[in-house]
Amino acid sequence: MCDDHPADTSRRAAIGFLGASLATALAACSTPGTTSAKDPASGAVRAESSAGPDGPATSHAASPATSTKGPRGSFVPDYSLPPIQDGLAPVITRIPTKQPIVFLTIDDGAVKSPDSVRLLAENDFPASLFLTSNTVRDNPAFFKAFMEQGSRIENHTVSHNVNMTTQWGYQRQLDDIIGMQDFAMQQYGRKPALFRPPGGAYSTTMRQAAAAAGLKAIITWEAKANAGRMDYQYGNTLRPGDIVLMHFRPEFAADFAAFRAAQDAAGLQVVLLEDFLGVA
Ligand SMILES: [Zn+2]
Repeated sequence: MCDDHPADTSRRAAIGFLGASLATALAACSTPGTTSAKDPASGAVRAESSAGPDGPATSHAASPATSTKGPRGSFVPDYSLPPIQDGLAPVITRIPTKQPIVFLTIDDGAVKSPDSVRLLAENDFPASLFLTSNTVRDNPAFFKAFMEQGSRIENHTVSHNVNMTTQWGYQRQLDDIIGMQDFAMQQYGRKPALFRPPGGAYSTTMRQAAAAAGLKAIITWEAKANAGRMDYQYGNTLRPGDIVLMHFRPEFAADFAAFRAAQDAAGLQVVLLEDFLGVA
């Protein structure tokens, strides 16, 4: 449902590099021809407690620097989420970080298999779950198990109309976004902070509507696990700061295995996007 890449692929320049105390080169993580190529991926993960205020906070600060399975992850915040500007929510496609971290996002919520809960739990991967209320309304409680593992429920509209940017005006888009805000608050006790457009396409009107609904950012992607394999829009490996798209589909286990292998091969630790952005 979300296979299409956003129409607007304008890349954000690196914003807010602060932490420069990064040393260890991780050549395996850099991909020629990408924005990260000029800055070889580098840096050891610091055993430093930072965000993650309300997750199951056990061992947040205890993961070894080389671990790719650290609960909630450990990192030095080196990026600041751009603010709402002129009423427009920022669009984040990838995080410009030098740290060996990657973000997992899982969309829609159609297939509610206990295997998906088990796989994330076994690997201790937190994820941002962009749910569509019409898709999860039959069993919203299923997703609470992910929350208990530290994942977050985010906004993927009520209707999942992939043509909403062209078919609908501002008010209808706003209503569809707010409907999911309210559903999430009612079911999960937290208003989503992040928005993913159905199909990935966004517009200025959508950015206005997302901001008006209280969302902090629109999150797209440049890598996805799909049909049991990884697809990259740039290069052929995961890069630090990549935001990876998956779906709750029948092939979840195969997609997850593809992501797990890519994440491991790239030496990247899975951390929660909301933790990193400070919007958990
Ligand atoms: Zn979707």
